[in-house]
Amino acid sequence: MKTAKTAAAKTAAVKKAPAKKAASAKKAAPAKAVPAKAASGKAAPAKAVAGKRAGESRTALVRRARRIDRELAEVYPYAHPELDFDNPFQLVVATVLSAQTTDLRVNQTTPALFAKYPTPEDLAAANPEEVEEILRPTGFFRAKTRSVIGLSKALAEDFGGEVPGKLEDLVKLPGVGRKTAFVVLGNAFGRPGITVDTHFQRLVRRWEWTAETDPDKIEAAIGALFPKSDWTDLSHHVIWHGRRICHARKPACGACPIAPLCPAYGEGETDPEKAKKLLKYEKGGFPGQRLKPPQSYLDAGGKAAPPLGAG
Ligand code: SF4
Repeated sequence: MKTAKTAAAKTAAVKKAPAKKAASAKKAAPAKAVPAKAASGKAAPAKAVAGKRAGESRTALVRRARRIDRELAEVYPYAHPELDFDNPFQLVVATVLSAQTTDLRVNQTTPALFAKYPTPEDLAAANPEEVEEILRPTGFFRAKTRSVIGLSKALAEDFGGEVPGKLEDLVKLPGVGRKTAFVVLGNAFGRPGITVDTHFQRLVRRWEWTAETDPDKIEAAIGALFPKSDWTDLSHHVIWHGRRICHARKPACGACPIAPLCPAYGEGETDPEKAKKLLKYEKGGFPGQRLKPPQSYLDAGGKAAPPLGAG
């Protein structure tokens, strides 16, 4: 997962898109009409309300957001965390390592790390130079080494070698912010959380679910549109869509199953054939990011990622 800083830069890049792009949105209409509610809304105010389409009521926004999520659930019924992990310790370490790199690169790197240092106590006592060598492929490996050794020490000394299952404890660990904490809570402890990563930030703004730019405010704004029980799956659906179809620079609008619901349709490639070529991972017929993906992903035609150095 990329950080908020990267996200902000990317969002800015999108925002700077010339007026031409906006105009191109109108030239090719999506297959189905945009939801009637939005189209038939009352006279639009001069300025759009933050986080809503012009003239859209709060109820209509909630319905529209939930409809998009329902559609995405059908597109990605097998959506899951894309970091390989066997326990909460591995997940928290992998999530810290995923800053500024892909989950694939982390998954290719962590088998060697966890084979050598299977517990927080092992990693806390590690020689930093040896850890740096293992983590080198993930980038920023010196800072990441400090973080994972530091958080392992904190786990060993303050939490009896166990990853705590509470937000307030998790965010005290070195290198762990709210985003990482929610990934861990949602995926290792089954506690609902919204993961506001770079994809999530970009997509909810494209869909005009919120106009907020601060990750904590985005989290609060989107959390208010959905029942808590939906938060973790919602995060997976949105992030998966961002990774596969709704890319930062070239969204594949012409191959996007939720195009009829999307206010930003036309921001990317609308030609179906050209758009198809932009699809990634299983949607483009390529391997996924996990070396050990869940069976549901494999059953849906997904392929496991290759190990590091396999070409
Ligand atoms: S790919 Fe295009 S149509 Fe689909 S969600 Fe992204 S911007 Fe909207």
